[in-house]
Amino acid sequence: MISLEDAQARINADIGLLPVVDVPLAESLGLVLQQDVVANEAIPPFDNTAMDGFAVRAADSKGASESSPVSLPVVATIAAGGPAPRRLEAGEAMRIMTGAPIPDGADAVIMVELTRPDGDTDVQLLAEVGVGSHVRPAGDDLPAGTVVFGPGTVITPGHIGVMASVGVASVAVRRRARVGVFSTGDELVDAGVPLGHGQIRDSNRPTLLALLLQANVEPVDLGRLPDDEAAIDAALRAAVDPDADRPVDVLLTSGGVSMGDFDFVKKVLSELGELNWMQVAIKPAKPLAFGLLFGVPVFGLPGNPVSSVVSFELFARPAIRSMMGLPKPQRRSVWGLADEPLLRSVDGKVHFQRVVLQPEPDGAWRVRSAGGQGSHQLSALATANGLAVLPDGDGVAAGQRVRVLQLDS
Ligand code: AMP
Ligand code: MG
Repeated sequence: MISLEDAQARINADIGLLPVVDVPLAESLGLVLQQDVVANEAIPPFDNTAMDGFAVRAADSKGASESSPVSLPVVATIAAGGPAPRRLEAGEAMRIMTGAPIPDGADAVIMVELTRPDGDTDVQLLAEVGVGSHVRPAGDDLPAGTVVFGPGTVITPGHIGVMASVGVASVAVRRRARVGVFSTGDELVDAGVPLGHGQIRDSNRPTLLALLLQANVEPVDLGRLPDDEAAIDAALRAAVDPDADRPVDVLLTSGGVSMGDFDFVKKVLSELGELNWMQVAIKPAKPLAFGLLFGVPVFGLPGNPVSSVVSFELFARPAIRSMMGLPKPQRRSVWGLADEPLLRSVDGKVHFQRVVLQPEPDGAWRVRSAGGQGSHQLSALATANGLAVLPDGDGVAAGQRVRVLQLDS
């Protein structure tokens, strides 16, 4: 057996960075920016009003109050999107809507709530306004020429909003990984087909595809393979063929990497590529086949449903996110206090128990088991939002500290 850290280091040694490509802004969420983004346009691009009201000269409002309003003729109406028809002269008002440009000659906006109509053509100002009141000057958010973001920025919805406001249509980013998923096993049958004796549903492939989607990666469903050496060989080759329409960047398989007579994935991978077949000192997910198949990283994940998820979390997910240039490829971990004993036995391995992490009002985390810990017991995984890391030993007593990888981080 090798340690978790050694297994992760072997994988890291073999993976590279995905290429830099230009993508439309709308497709850039979660990717890592590879360029400076410059605001070629100021935000806002022109002086505009923050309120619905009347554009005026502040000096004209001098002395205005409820009891002695100042009356001004309304000479135009300015909607958002349109310029004012002409300059505002002293002693005039223009009706103006939020976001509309301030007319030349005006230096303030009085909000509609501080005015009253005066006949059909005039408005009464009921308060004084200061110069610049409710005026959002051009460049107030970002002056033109500002470098707004630089290389290494992980693009969030907020970044997309800023880039959209300065007119950016596409950005240079490290490409989103395309990750293909195969499941293997003669016992697997699709939903809708009645189960024969000895048959089970394929749960690993939908789970892995969903985990990829959640990791901001492009999942590619490559279907299910029988326990047949020739079929597995042909399918793996086809998946990584560089002449394929859109070859995958990473390949995940589940099943067929243990010690069984029909575990052909390991065999095929070792014949086709440079395979590291590892027995990692962890539970669950001890067996792992990892290698490069014509240059494409392939993770042969174990078949047991919980094992395939834990193996994905510990090996495949961080590797794929590293390939995309993400600065924190691992799940975050926190220290929590065990609400109940999290027991295990001594076996030379690090155990990963499925747990529920619950925040306390003071910010501390409480940790309790999510249920059955068998590697075939997927139901506890659905409840869990963490993997408790239990080093070799007897486990953790109630009230003791335990490190937990956050599955929802
Ligand atoms: P294997 O590693 O192929 O020997 O599979 C180990 C266990 O995982 C067996 O009980 C399989 O039936 C089960 N298994 C393998 N693949 C899947 C899958 N895609 N969905 C659900 N269970 C699976
Ligand atoms: Mg199998």
